[in-house]
Amino acid sequence: MCRHLGYLGPTRSVREVIAAGEFSLLRQSWSPRDMRGGGTINADGYGAAWWGSTLSRYRCAMPIWSDPALSEMLSKVRSHAVMAAVRSATVGMPVERSACAPFVSGHWAFSHNGRIEQWPESMTDVAAGLPMLDLLGLEAPTDSALLWLLVRHALRDNSPEVALMQVTAAVAEAAPGSRLNMLLGDGNQLWATTWDHSLSALVDDDRAVLSSEPFDHNHLWKEIPDGHIVTARPGHLIVTPL
Ligand code: GLN
Repeated sequence: MCRHLGYLGPTRSVREVIAAGEFSLLRQSWSPRDMRGGGTINADGYGAAWWGSTLSRYRCAMPIWSDPALSEMLSKVRSHAVMAAVRSATVGMPVERSACAPFVSGHWAFSHNGRIEQWPESMTDVAAGLPMLDLLGLEAPTDSALLWLLVRHALRDNSPEVALMQVTAAVAEAAPGSRLNMLLGDGNQLWATTWDHSLSALVDDDRAVLSSEPFDHNHLWKEIPDGHIVTARPGHLIVTPL
């Protein structure tokens, strides 16, 4: 299962955020400590989004460790807000750049760890609730790309918390057994769900980090219990049952 990371805090290079800690997201690409539902490494590409005057993004279908852009480009880009993800494609899903998180729109960035059970048949009714134009814009034929369409659609009329809750409830009902750890950010705040997968939070007055796995031994890491939604920004962490 893929691994993702959201960071809000002192300005760092995107590479520094990805490589931070003994168990960094970079290391999780070849040596994750908690992989569930199949997969051993996250070698099917990666992506990073960072906020400045606008939201920017870089994605690549190669394993993160073999992409020179990580040191040649992402080490030069600095931001106070970063989202990054390494991918282990679910069996049957394409390995291509457009399938790599983060997915972005406007000031929003989104990532998903997990899989939708019985994909794509289980989503027939759920997807039918989306406008045809949205569906035509599906970026990749993957469960994560559809989740992003659903979240984006729900965000038009709802707060991020409500949007994530609605999408989790609808997908879990239509496709029981799905793993739905989602991560959403707008550059000022992070939101995430835990639904049958791991997530930890590290929040102090200066920074807020949400990560599939703790990336160092800091005693402030809190494991988020399953079936919860998290809202985080520096100095602020709220964990609520879904
Ligand atoms: N199912 C998603 C994909 O194939 C996410 C994979 C994962 O979490 N390992 O992109």
